[in-house]
Amino acid sequence: MATSSLAERSRQAVWHPCTQMKGHEEHPLRAIVRGEGPWLIDDQGHRILDAVSSWWVNLFGHGFAPIVEAITDQLTQLDHTMLAGLTHAPVVELSERLGALTGLGHAFYASDGASATEIALKMSAHSWRNRGLPGKHRFIGLQGGYHGETAGALSVTDIPLFREAYAPLLRLSATLPSPDLRHAAVGVSADEHTAACVQALADHLAEHHASIAALILEPLVQGAAGMGIYSPAYLSAARDLCKQHQVHLIADEIAVGFGRTGTMFAHQQALDANGQPIRPDFICLSKGLTGGVLPLSAVLTTDEVYAAFWDDRTAHGFLHSHSYTGNPLACRAALAVLDTFDNEDVLARNRATALRLSTLAEPLTRHPRVTAHRHIGMIWAWDIDTTDATFAARFHRTALDHGLLLRPIGNSLYFMPPYVLTETDMQHLVAGTLRTLDQVLAAELPGSSSGHGERLA
Ligand SMILES: *Cc1c(COP(=O)(O)O)cnc(C)c1O
Repeated sequence: MATSSLAERSRQAVWHPCTQMKGHEEHPLRAIVRGEGPWLIDDQGHRILDAVSSWWVNLFGHGFAPIVEAITDQLTQLDHTMLAGLTHAPVVELSERLGALTGLGHAFYASDGASATEIALKMSAHSWRNRGLPGKHRFIGLQGGYHGETAGALSVTDIPLFREAYAPLLRLSATLPSPDLRHAAVGVSADEHTAACVQALADHLAEHHASIAALILEPLVQGAAGMGIYSPAYLSAARDLCKQHQVHLIADEIAVGFGRTGTMFAHQQALDANGQPIRPDFICLSKGLTGGVLPLSAVLTTDEVYAAFWDDRTAHGFLHSHSYTGNPLACRAALAVLDTFDNEDVLARNRATALRLSTLAEPLTRHPRVTAHRHIGMIWAWDIDTTDATFAARFHRTALDHGLLLRPIGNSLYFMPPYVLTETDMQHLVAGTLRTLDQVLAAELPGSSSGHGERLA
C-alpha cells in the first residue's frame, strides 16, 4: 500500500496514543480525510466501515446533521466561556436533562473519560472527609476493570500492560474478582459464579469498609477486558452491599451509556428489591455523550454527596477545575444527542438492528475457531482460539484492507458499531470479518497470546 505523505508526516510529528511508534515504520498510518455515517474515507479513497465507533464514541455516524446543526448554531452565539462564576444555557439545560434521566441531579463537567473518573474518585473521598470520615479514602475496583489512564484512573484500572510501567507512580486500589461470566470455572454455573463474586465483595467490604470511599465498576460490560459481560444481579447486590457498608458506588458508564447495552444506561438493567432500577452514587459519562463529535465528560451525583460540600468554608467545596469545563459547543452536541433519543425511538431501532446483525453474524458465531460468543445491545464479541500474540494487530491491519475498522482485544474480536448501520453495511461487516478471520488464521504464528489491552492492539 502506498504511503501517503500525510501518514508519513504524522509518523514524524504526531505521537499517536497507546502506540508503539516503531511499528509504523513497517505499517503506515491511514490518513482519514472524511467521515460519512458509519464510514471513514482515507486519502486514497478507500471506504472503511467504522465498526468500533472510533474507539466507542460514535453513536449516529460521522457528520450526523442534528449534531452538526446544533454546534454550528451555538458557534454563532457563544463559543466558550469559563464556568466558574459564570454559566450558560447549554450547560444548564444539559445538566437538568441528565438529572431527569438518571435521578442524579448534580452534574460536574470535564473533557474526557479519565478526568470523569478522577472527579468521581476525588469527590467521593472528599465527601467522606467533609462528613467527618477522613479515613475513607481507598477505592476498590474489579479484576479487568478499565477506567482511564491518568494516574488516579489508572490506579483503579486492572489492565496489567497499561499499569506495569507506571505502577510506582500509583496508589493501587484493591481488585476484586470479576463477575465476567467467562471467568466461571468449568462446572460452575453463571449464577454460582455471580454469587461467588458477590460473596468476595461482601467479605472485602465487611473487613475494610472503614477505609473505603467507593467501589468503581463498569456496569454490565468490562470493555477493555475484551467485552466481558456479567449479570445485572451482581450490580444489584453491589448496590446493596455498598449502601450497607457506607461505601459509594461509582458507575463508570463512559463506554456503556447512551443505549449501548440496550437501555439508556447499563446500570438501569439492575433492579432493586422493589423492581426499580438501582441508583448509583456517581455516574461517569463521556464517550457517547456528544455522539462522538466533541470531547466532553460529566460526573453526575446525588443530593447527599452534594450536601456534604455545602458549607461556608471554601476548603469544604469541591476543589477541581478544567479550563474547558462545560464547553457550550460540546453541551449543544450532547443536547442534540438527547433530542435524537427523544425524537427517534433509538433503543427500539437498535433492537431491530441488533437482531438482524446477530442473524447475519451466525456464520461467525459458528466458526470452528470461535470458542465463546456474547452479545448485549449494540456490542458483539467472539473469542478466537489462537495463541498467536500478533493476532489482534494482524487482524486490525488485514481488516483495513477489507474496508473495516476493527481492533480485537487480545483474542477477543468485537463489533461496537454506530447505531446507523444499513443492511448493506451489516453484510459488508460480516463478510469482511469472515474473510479477515480466515486470512489471519491461515497465516498464524505459533506462540503464547499476550492477552494485552485493547489500545495497543
Ligand atoms: C474509554 C473509557 C474511559 C476513559 O475515557 P477517555 O476519554 O479515553 O479518557 C474510562 N472508562 C471506561 C469504561 C472507558 O471505556
